[in-house]
Amino acid sequence: MGYPFELPELGYDHDALEPHIDARTMEIHHGKHHQAYTNNLNAALEAHPDLHGHSGEQLLAELAHLPEAIRAAVRNNGGGYVNHKMFWAIMAPGGASEPSGELAEAIDGAFGSLDDLKTAVGGGAAKQFGSGWGWLVVGSSGGLQATATANQDNPLSDGAIPILGVDVWEHAYYLNYQNRRPDYISAWWNVVNWDVVAANYAGAKG
Ligand code: MN
Repeated sequence: MGYPFELPELGYDHDALEPHIDARTMEIHHGKHHQAYTNNLNAALEAHPDLHGHSGEQLLAELAHLPEAIRAAVRNNGGGYVNHKMFWAIMAPGGASEPSGELAEAIDGAFGSLDDLKTAVGGGAAKQFGSGWGWLVVGSSGGLQATATANQDNPLSDGAIPILGVDVWEHAYYLNYQNRRPDYISAWWNVVNWDVVAANYAGAKG
């Protein structure tokens, strides 16, 4: 769970999400970018053994209380580590292609419909200036909300619990989509595994 952090397995082949996400993008994104966030997070924490038992999620939630010398490094690389761990998991192929049960009811209640959720989360992600993420979160009041963050910032640092995140850094889509971020986001919904999102929702609700 904690230090030293290790690159999580993808759990599926690099080409499993084609044609929506190409194999080369997955290879570089997982093997190079996520590995770099993982290595840099470990380097930041190396000299802070008191934090070695903390999970990545815990570190992001307690960001404001971390030593100033490593706060920015944990924000960026701890965010990169945690964000991508969720990203690979919620894209796993073969799961439910749309939400059901309690999650579906919560989505309908908060947004009106799944399409409205996609518009809210995807629209926020499309408009995020520069690099960042679009999120579906369980807010402090317990309700579902669409948000977006810059860079590798994670909603946990603002007291919300993310259950779905779409990476809109150019490294996530540039090889296949170039400047067409909205096209990438539209295609991305095809590879979301709603079983995993539902499990995240159940976990977030406690
Ligand atoms: Mn990324």
